[in-house]
Amino acid sequence: MTELTVPALSLVVLVGISGSGKSTFAQRNFAPSQVLSSDAFRAMVADDENDQSASAAAFDALHYVAGRRLAGGRLTVIDATNVQDHARAGLVALARAHDVLPVAIVLDLPEEECWARTERRPDRSFGRGVLGRQSRDLRRSIKRLSREGFRTVHVLHGLEEIEAATIRPQR
Ligand code: ATP
Ligand code: MG
Repeated sequence: MTELTVPALSLVVLVGISGSGKSTFAQRNFAPSQVLSSDAFRAMVADDENDQSASAAAFDALHYVAGRRLAGGRLTVIDATNVQDHARAGLVALARAHDVLPVAIVLDLPEEECWARTERRPDRSFGRGVLGRQSRDLRRSIKRLSREGFRTVHVLHGLEEIEAATIRPQR
């Protein structure tokens, strides 16, 4: 078991390609109400969690809810790939605006494993190339997180580290 320390009031940003296990990790380590997932918000605004054309509206709504939670002093977890710089920049800015510490937890699972999982999922139908792009973005992202303003960065490499991780809130 590895304890990941996370400030009791923080904005926890999960980072990982599709299929890396972000939603599973969030479900295992946080209360359902603490987790805001881009899929859930796509479904809320467009009735379809896979409708990428709804992403702008979905993230707009997600940021709004996250902001209201942080204003209320509630730890909040963002369950989205967050492999793109601009996605993380918006979340760091949101945390700062509410005087809350941004924390990154990276799930770094081999791309092949993620693809094998994706192929088995009835709820995902994107092509192999999408994952390749996300992987390249992820590699670049890992090096940048501290500089981007994440005060705590936890990088979990591989299935064993992901499964062994637990969260320790730090007061
Ligand atoms: P997306 O970005 O597409 O939402 P995700 O990162 O949230 O993906 P999950 O939905 O958590 O990924 O997991 C992807 C698939 O892998 C699911 O079918 C899930 O059941 C499986 N999975 C997740 N974690 C594990 C694990 N530790 N061991 C085995 N299978 C897992
Ligand atoms: Mg997910």
